[in-house]
Amino acid sequence: MTSDSTDTRTLTGGCMCGAVRYEVRDFPAGKEIDGILCHCKKMNTMLSFNVQGARKNLHVVQGEPKTWEDPNADSGKPITRAFCGTCGTALWSTPESAPEVVFVKAGALDQINEVKPKAEIVSRGINGQLNGVDGWLICHIVASMLNI
Ligand SMILES: [Zn+2]
Repeated sequence: MTSDSTDTRTLTGGCMCGAVRYEVRDFPAGKEIDGILCHCKKMNTMLSFNVQGARKNLHVVQGEPKTWEDPNADSGKPITRAFCGTCGTALWSTPESAPEVVFVKAGALDQINEVKPKAEIVSRGINGQLNGVDGWLICHIVASMLNI
């Protein structure tokens, strides 16, 4: 376990079968964990609810996730998607266009009940086809504006 300072905390998570466990260290403490609902052109398979962290703070503490490099993210650059090779749980994504960032799948976090919906990313390719989720969306962001 990592001991947290008063300014940071460690988020923990893992897959359904327990083979892969990870930590996101040095996450800001004392604030809500912002969730990002992400739609991309592949929304039928890639609709996801994420928490953004610093990639350098992501540490696998058990098991070894499998990865798949998606060559065609909406940014036009690849994005690597990590998942459990045993149970298939999606774990996180690391976009080449934002090398310091990791998007951890909120559903795999032990702190999922603390994740507050904050933003929705709608790519240009599908903008207008989705109306968002009533009641909890704060903003809509065009993915290309975030360079992801
Ligand atoms: Zn698993």
